Amino acid sequence: MINASEALHIILEHTQLLGTEKVPLADTLGRTCAKNISADVDLPSFDNSAMDGYALLSSDVKAASPNTPVTLAVVGESSAGNPFDGVVEPSESVRIMTGGMIPRGADSVVPLESVRLLSEDKIECAEAGPVGMHIRARGEDIKEGEIVLREGEVIRPPHMGILAALGITKLRVGRRPLVNILSTGDELVEIDEKPGEGQIRNSSASALAGYIALAGGTARFLGIVPDRKRRIRKKIEEALDADIVIVTGGVSVGKYDFVAEALADLEVHILFSKVNIKPGRPLVFGRRRKTLVFGLPGNPVSTGVTFLQFVRPAILAMQGRTDVLPVRYAAILQSAITKTDGKRHYLRGVATPLEGVLRVRTTGTQSSGVLNSLARANCLIIVPEQVRQVNEGETVDIEFVHQDP
Ligand code: AMP
Ligand code: MG
Repeated sequence: MINASEALHIILEHTQLLGTEKVPLADTLGRTCAKNISADVDLPSFDNSAMDGYALLSSDVKAASPNTPVTLAVVGESSAGNPFDGVVEPSESVRIMTGGMIPRGADSVVPLESVRLLSEDKIECAEAGPVGMHIRARGEDIKEGEIVLREGEVIRPPHMGILAALGITKLRVGRRPLVNILSTGDELVEIDEKPGEGQIRNSSASALAGYIALAGGTARFLGIVPDRKRRIRKKIEEALDADIVIVTGGVSVGKYDFVAEALADLEVHILFSKVNIKPGRPLVFGRRRKTLVFGLPGNPVSTGVTFLQFVRPAILAMQGRTDVLPVRYAAILQSAITKTDGKRHYLRGVATPLEGVLRVRTTGTQSSGVLNSLARANCLIIVPEQVRQVNEGETVDIEFVHQDP
């Protein structure tokens, strides 16, 4: 049986980049940038003041101090959006507001607090203002030609701000993968139905739709299929027009687990059908042409964990994302973990920082049917295959689960 790293390797090897599309700036949040974007101007595009105060010549106030103030004429004003259009000469100053353009001639800004107003047009400056003081220099944020967003990078709010500042109104991004969801199980009823005896509502399809959306995919729910091989085969066949097909349930070795057989009948090339992990061991992965097919185990926690570990990276990679794997952090374990098998375990955990160090505890019961354990968790604790025991106070690897796009 392959281990988790091998499984992920196989999945990513079979994952192909989808095409790109141009979208308005407002729709770029969480999308993946499809080509390097460089600035065509300096930002800021002009020297401007970082303070409310007076723009002046540093040479005039070199010796200024509270005991030896320097008197200067006030010859005008520069507020944000309304520049002073003259030149500041020696012994002169211009009243300036934050964001106001630094007038020609001036090379320093002395803040209001260091200035006493003698009259409408005369100040006494009590502070030396070295060259460049309180001036936001042209290009100090971004230089013309600088790359502001790289191909493969996810677009976050500050990027949207930078793109706006550069006047970029449309952006080429990776296309969203279409992900078809199929739920198998005789026991399942739709969420607006009242379950009869032995029946349950289909909870996993809704959870998956949320996970898919967070990863940037478009989820399409194709319905519930009973545990009948022909029905499952027919429905999967219909589902295969998507970029990814997720089938939940029916992947174990039970009498009514037909997904793997159905996939084989449909000439889906099965690349693996078990992974050495807990929860989620019966994970099936296959491919037909460009479509990736995941058979996720039906227990809701197994479905969630295997999605995060194996499907999410594929959804990100299809969009061109370069960082497809969750970031790992080290955390101090708060109560011992023991395991008796050689599988990689993913325990639901709650990590909290304390004095700059992450501490993590499990959410209690780790039964793979307890979806609430995943809802209460903010991370997965990764216990490697060969580890049998981690003691309280020892360090474990964690991955936060509610990752942004
Ligand atoms: P299976 O993988 O089909 O053996 O299912 C394992 C367990 O997960 C069973 O208890 C199922 O009832 C449950 N299960 C399967 N599919 C779903 C679903 N879509 N929503 C909630 N529970 C499910
Ligand atoms: Mg089942």
